[in-house]
This record gives sequence, structure tokens and C-alpha cells, in this order.
Amino acid sequence: MKMSEDQQKCFESWLRANCSNLKCALCQSVRWKIGDLLLPAHVNPLEQDLGAHEPVMAQLVCKNCAHVVLFDVRRIKGWHDDGVSDSSQTMIF
Ligand SMILES: [Zn+2]
Repeated sequence: MKMSEDQQKCFESWLRANCSNLKCALCQSVRWKIGDLLLPAHVNPLEQDLGAHEPVMAQLVCKNCAHVVLFDVRRIKGWHDDGVSDSSQTMIF
């Protein structure tokens, strides 16, 4: 799943604040690009009830060697699961 623009911005600024000198563990490159979101259903399709409680992971991809680093979005400050629900709330009030 693609990240929304808000999620990308949130992820980027969180990365800058918490791991601004992140180096690739494999090739030592410091050039990264933001990847997709990994949803629990894809991680463990056989246990859907449990799956709901598994973390959504945000990918960060090394531009040099394509090594992927995963971040648990529950730990990312200011992260919103779904920007759409926020804007629908705004329309109600
Ligand atoms: Zn790398």
C-alpha cells in the first residue's frame, strides 16, 4: 500500500528527528527513499484475528543496494492510520 502524502511527511520528519544519520547496514550508503506500507494482512494471512493487532510497517529503501528497513508506525509520533477518516470528521463538525 502506498503512503499518503501526510504519512510520508510524518515519516520523513520523524526519521530526521530520530535517525538523521541512518546508514545502510549492508552498503553504508546514506541515500534512502521511502517505500510502501506493509499491512498485517500480508504478513500473516492465516491469522486474521491476530493480524489486526500486528503492526503496520513503513518501509525505507536504500537507493544503492535496495536493502529495506522496516519501522513500526505505532512508534512514530504523529502518525495517522488513515488521513481520509480525519477529513471526513472535519466535514461533520
Ligand atoms: Zn544499501
